[in-house]
Amino acid sequence: MVRKKAKMQMADYLCCPECKSGLLACEGGFRCKKCSKRYEVIEGIPILVDLGNLTPYLQFQVRYFEEKTRATDAIFELAPWQKNYVKKFVSNAGAIKDALVIDCGTGSGYMALELAKRDARVIACDLTLKSLIQLKRTVEERGQSDNILLVCCTAESLPFKGGIADYFISNAVLEHLPKDKEAISEMGRVTGSSAIAMVAVPFSYRYIHPLLLPINLFHDWRIGHLRRYDEKKVAEDFRGWTIKKTFFTGHTAKAMKALTNMVAKAFDEDGIEAEDENKHAVRWGAHNMISFLAKKPKRFKR
Ligand SMILES: [Zn+2]
Repeated sequence: MVRKKAKMQMADYLCCPECKSGLLACEGGFRCKKCSKRYEVIEGIPILVDLGNLTPYLQFQVRYFEEKTRATDAIFELAPWQKNYVKKFVSNAGAIKDALVIDCGTGSGYMALELAKRDARVIACDLTLKSLIQLKRTVEERGQSDNILLVCCTAESLPFKGGIADYFISNAVLEHLPKDKEAISEMGRVTGSSAIAMVAVPFSYRYIHPLLLPINLFHDWRIGHLRRYDEKKVAEDFRGWTIKKTFFTGHTAKAMKALTNMVAKAFDEDGIEAEDENKHAVRWGAHNMISFLAKKPKRFKR
């Protein structure tokens, strides 16, 4: 007889984002056992961050992504680049069946939905409550509520118990964070000793074609990117991790063709993606960098 898998329970994974102590269920939400801070649950989503007390920069980020949520309907079909991100994770991370994946900064949630479909247990978190509420609808429509848990929080102060995650995804998140080092340290805290992380970041300006530099600078300013990364910076920032593999994506030809397609649909999107995929070892012209990192074993003092 096939036993139905148990639904993911918030109490098994969540803790106070401030003091990392356990939470007690109380009316309308949770209360921290230690510091007594209260956290609301809105539309079934625990709000483990003080949304009323965000810095002006984070408020701007939430507003920007709220606008984006309004513009996009619930996802039904993945864009070619999204399919490619899912494929990269599935073929480079390891076995995900029954594993716990934290998709930090889940956004539209395409990665969380795809991995849950492949029987992973997924915690999908984001700071934009509005996109989480929309994602929750999609999760329910698809009958995936048992293995996706949605949480509203910041990446710099995660409300998850230590060592719980087998995999951690940080997809286009670090460049948005004023305190990216704290987010990296939190990533280390919530992951288990043999965890694998997938980290996607915008690639350093010095590899970008000079003609595309102005539009990149404008895009970074508009969306609020605080910095870009290269392999050296990722290696330095992720001191507790070893880089296993890095892919370079979004090369000049893809950017040019995507820009042309915005004006007139001239190029087939699957074709653009396949062409770009062939260059994933080429740094020059790439706009993004995707790294797979393995946690370093802890050294014990004798
Ligand atoms: Zn607390």
